[in-house]
Amino acid sequence: MQDIATPKIEVNEAESLAARYRLISERVSFAAREAGRAETDVTLIAVSKTHPVATLREALAAGVVEFGENRVQEATEKRAQLAGDAKRNRVRWHLIGNLQANKARRAVQTFDCIHTLDSATLAARLDRICDEEERAKLPVLIQVELGGESTKAGVAESELAQVVAAVRACSHLELAGLMTLPPYFEDTEAVRPYFRRLRELRDELRAREAFGTSGGELSMGMSHDYEIAIAEGATMVRVGTAIFGARD
Ligand SMILES: *Cc1c(COP(=O)(O)O)cnc(C)c1O
Repeated sequence: MQDIATPKIEVNEAESLAARYRLISERVSFAAREAGRAETDVTLIAVSKTHPVATLREALAAGVVEFGENRVQEATEKRAQLAGDAKRNRVRWHLIGNLQANKARRAVQTFDCIHTLDSATLAARLDRICDEEERAKLPVLIQVELGGESTKAGVAESELAQVVAAVRACSHLELAGLMTLPPYFEDTEAVRPYFRRLRELRDELRAREAFGTSGGELSMGMSHDYEIAIAEGATMVRVGTAIFGARD
């Protein structure tokens, strides 16, 4: 791995949420510049799952505008409780966890972007619900399973084209990009091929104009590997622990 000179303070030494958020934001910008990309090219999503509303309020005050949640019900409640503040700050809510069919309506009502679309059936269902809920456009990312672990969520590479076609056939869904959640490796370098592969898949789809004008987001990278993800082209990183501290 290239030895990039990250800012000196360690995350766990940064005592407040605001300080940690500022630090991670700086590192994200730094990693983008190191990769020869614009800082604005990478969106930092603060993954607030399991943390209480009071903590999210603190995050809002620290300047967080993109929240990632993995449970529909939990996000719906938090969103409702933060309604006033969140609207002022133009907060966006990202669903980063598995979406069950029976939660689809709530998800459409709650989230600005869904990162975990994983089947043609779910696409059709979301589209129908958007129609009923009078939601003109719902940006979705297709979650791709690159690890070959069939138990995990996501679309296998071999089925990606079919799901892309299904999303594109939906009038209310906007194919915003691809997302992946690679297996966990102690050695973060081992994850790089997964990020690289997702970018290749994105580039192939982009060449076929599958993403319309957006070009295709790449949602990849978490607390322990977001810098590698950015080096490999991530446009959205999902960072929880490094901002909010450990979850119970
Ligand atoms: C929890 C979660 C994250 C954040 O993980 P951290 O290691 O806490 O940064 C990112 N992506 C997904 C899909 C998650 O479920």
